[in-house]
Amino acid sequence: MERTLVLIKPDGVCKALVGKVLQEIEGQGFKIVALKMIRLEEKKAKEFYHPHKGKHFFPGLIKFMLAAPSIALVVEGKGVVKKIRKIIGERIPEEAAPETIRGQYASDGRRNIIHGSDSPISAEREIECLFHPEEIYSYKKKDWLESEPG
Ligand code: ATP
Ligand code: MG
Repeated sequence: MERTLVLIKPDGVCKALVGKVLQEIEGQGFKIVALKMIRLEEKKAKEFYHPHKGKHFFPGLIKFMLAAPSIALVVEGKGVVKKIRKIIGERIPEEAAPETIRGQYASDGRRNIIHGSDSPISAEREIECLFHPEEIYSYKKKDWLESEPG
């Protein structure tokens, strides 16, 4: 099953938007298979954003990512990479559709609440960067409801 890496960035955590983002993801029918709060340190943040190394915004991006904890998630579902990107919206809030997460909550082109992998290959690299394999769970949705007696 396709997987994507979602990161509720430090501004999303500090603005108390964790619940709203999770509700959005679960509400769309996706399955959360891993979730944790992490405080990125410089080495990890640079590894995670390695594809942007050398770009003018890279130092500011790294500083921002270290400023407070993030929430990291692995989300599973058919076509999840593209669908999550759609829910997230464009990087710059003015360009993001109003119903998207960034359209509603982003402050600017850096402080934009949330990250979602841009391809299944990126997702694989990013998941490996932030999670140990044993932190990712396999389960069936609704299993509990259907199998619990009484
Ligand atoms: P993300 O990868 O976080 O989902 P994105 O794919 O929409 O966002 P990228 O171009 O991959 O955007 O840039 C990664 C992140 O780097 C952006 O989300 C933003 O936080 C920051 N960033 C990118 N471009 C700029 C910029 N020109 N100025 C400030 N920050 C930027
Ligand atoms: Mg990106």
